[in-house]
Amino acid sequence: MHLKEHISYCPKCGAKTFSFDKKRFVCSSCQFDLYINASAAVAALILNDNGELLLARRKFDPMKGTLDLPGGFVDVHETAENAIKREIKEELNLTITSLEYFCSFPNTYTFRENDYYTLDLTFICKVESLDDLNVNDDVSAVEFIEVKKIDTTEIGLSSIKTIVSTFQKSYKN
Ligand SMILES: [Zn+2]
Repeated sequence: MHLKEHISYCPKCGAKTFSFDKKRFVCSSCQFDLYINASAAVAALILNDNGELLLARRKFDPMKGTLDLPGGFVDVHETAENAIKREIKEELNLTITSLEYFCSFPNTYTFRENDYYTLDLTFICKVESLDDLNVNDDVSAVEFIEVKKIDTTEIGLSSIKTIVSTFQKSYKN
């Protein structure tokens, strides 16, 4: 559900004249405005030596149980590079040694009846050693799947589905 379904009172003057217009809320009483932007998120493409891609099984909603790429939201004042290193350490206990920007896709992420707009930035990552792999946080398990054999219909989030399809097309083994 979009925020406009929840918010109708102006947070500054309190009048019920706060409405959404394309990219922002605006109050017709006091002119206070509030922009709604996409949140930056990061996702990692990590391959093993056999050319298989690491996919995570989502532990929580939204899309619990579906396949996903590991990653998460970028914190305020954090770089995308640091965010992907932090998330991969937290979720998989892996240490990223190098990364290369791949692509980005927008998404709508619905959590507790609220739609969050994201821009998912994807990086092809190399890690120190896959022997360190230890699943925790919001991942329930990981699977390595040969790139061309990944069934993208098993991927829940639409942006991640598009990212993996794009990677499949560009991948040469
Ligand atoms: Zn107002």
